[in-house]
Amino acid sequence: MSFTLKGIGVSKGIAIGKIHIIDHDTIEVNEYTLSKQSLDDEVARFEDALVIARQQLQKIQKNIPKTAPEDVVTFIETHLLMLNDSLLVDAPIQFIKEKQCNAEWALKLQCDYLVKVFDEMDDPYISSRKRDVEQVVSRIQHILRGHTELPSSTDVSNAIVVADDLTPADTILMQHQGILGFATEYGGTTSHTAILARSLGIPAIVGLHRARRYVKPDDTLILDGIHGVMLVAPDQRTVEYYEQKQKQDKQRRTALKRLKQAPCVTLDGQEIKLHTNIEFPEDMSSVKKAGSNGVGLYRTEFLFMNRIDPPDEAEHYAAYLKVVKSLKHGEVTIRTVDLGGDKQANPLHAGSWIANPALGLRAIRLCLKNMTLFKQQLRAILRVSAEGNVRMMIPMLSGLQELTQVLNVVEETRRELSQEGFDFDPNMPVGAMVEVPAMAVCTDLFLPYLDFLSIGTNDLIQYTLAIDRCDDSVNYLYDPLHPAILRLIKMSIDGAQNGCKPISMCGEMASDTRYVRLLLGLGLRAFSVNPEAFLEVKQIINNTDINSLHTNITRMLSTDSPTEMRYLLDKMNT
Ligand code: PEP
Ligand code: MG
Repeated sequence: MSFTLKGIGVSKGIAIGKIHIIDHDTIEVNEYTLSKQSLDDEVARFEDALVIARQQLQKIQKNIPKTAPEDVVTFIETHLLMLNDSLLVDAPIQFIKEKQCNAEWALKLQCDYLVKVFDEMDDPYISSRKRDVEQVVSRIQHILRGHTELPSSTDVSNAIVVADDLTPADTILMQHQGILGFATEYGGTTSHTAILARSLGIPAIVGLHRARRYVKPDDTLILDGIHGVMLVAPDQRTVEYYEQKQKQDKQRRTALKRLKQAPCVTLDGQEIKLHTNIEFPEDMSSVKKAGSNGVGLYRTEFLFMNRIDPPDEAEHYAAYLKVVKSLKHGEVTIRTVDLGGDKQANPLHAGSWIANPALGLRAIRLCLKNMTLFKQQLRAILRVSAEGNVRMMIPMLSGLQELTQVLNVVEETRRELSQEGFDFDPNMPVGAMVEVPAMAVCTDLFLPYLDFLSIGTNDLIQYTLAIDRCDDSVNYLYDPLHPAILRLIKMSIDGAQNGCKPISMCGEMASDTRYVRLLLGLGLRAFSVNPEAFLEVKQIINNTDINSLHTNITRMLSTDSPTEMRYLLDKMNT
């Protein structure tokens, strides 16, 4: 029987294929007391489970595509190493013998102990490594439960994944395995998983509550990321209809390519700076394909994902150099690492150990607490500034003291590099994201110390309207047209103009074609968008006369009616 499920479409495009269900749910473990005579058998059962776990991981390792990034390889290697570590191998055996308990319980006791040790570590990066332990333990528990086949979650090629939730790290791994699309039961429009899906061009839906209950393995699915609907077991006519839509979408994209070489300029002759957001050096191929000549936001935190050790200076430098070299003279804005919140370095259950991760030790706060990590990145950014047109951007800045601290570290790093004989651009611009409301209302205080600003609407909306950007239950409140948001954007643009400093927008609002004219009308002259949206945004800019927007903009800034707001937006876009 065919039926339809409705969620929130977060990444455009249509996928048609077989379903693949991923179950992250943890296994409940009970304690059983065993007789002395059966202890040897129980130890053997545990050791057999370890052998199977190793075989599973070796099988995954063998199937990693050659094109997969080094991180994917490291991720699997790390788990294999753990399976040989006495902490996971010997300690549970000891528990089985001493407590006369079943293997599952012994393993759980040891896992709880290790997690506690990790939690007590002061270093948030190391502490977050506990999730690797949990993931390896979960694999062994599944095997002890009798699931000895490779968990199906490892083979997602040419499938549409349906899961409770996916982390950004999961998304990266699955993209390399060739998924067609995904639907999750939780998640928000501007969660980093959703942003990644858009930038990787994977059709996606979030907030499909209890979807896994309604579907079964091998069902055929149509996932419509534009309208946020998932059609389960569709009939042949419906499949043909969506295949036709896929074809039309492809044709539309091909037609947009004619804009690749065109300048980005409005009908009234205003040149607009249009750059691209990237997450990996590999994204430069999409940047080139779109015809973009600048990176307005390089989210460097993705360098930290799916691996055990953080990248060192050499690795940072090599990644940045690839981006800088591939653009030749184009501007590259490297954002210092924005880990924390929904971007934990580790792939499992990200963020569960902090009460309010989005308000916690995230981004620049985390960097200032972990100077070793921060300095390695700063050294690499400064060194790569000698090779091209590089700017550095600070995420989540909220206080002047924080800014002073950052600028002091940058200065100190410059001195060290000089002494060591490294080249760098002494005038490399240093700017900041406007993504905490405190920054938007105080640009006049920050700007004397900064060279540029970039508005991050994903977090600006989250923090202004107090809505967790990853929580689909409050997604309906996530409104870029809220008067407070429009006012903060306008204040930031005006503040930058008064301070004679450039300002752009790299939040997802800039990539959303509905808002491009509104932003031009508010005075924005620089956009950084995801590669998938680049040509569509350019098309709108090139078809806009900014002078004709003023009346509508004035009304939008003064109306208190959401209905009128939407009416005015539609009017502006027709
Ligand atoms: C933003 O917050 O708008 C932004 C661009 O940063 P991120 O999405 O990486 O938090
Ligand atoms: Mg942000």
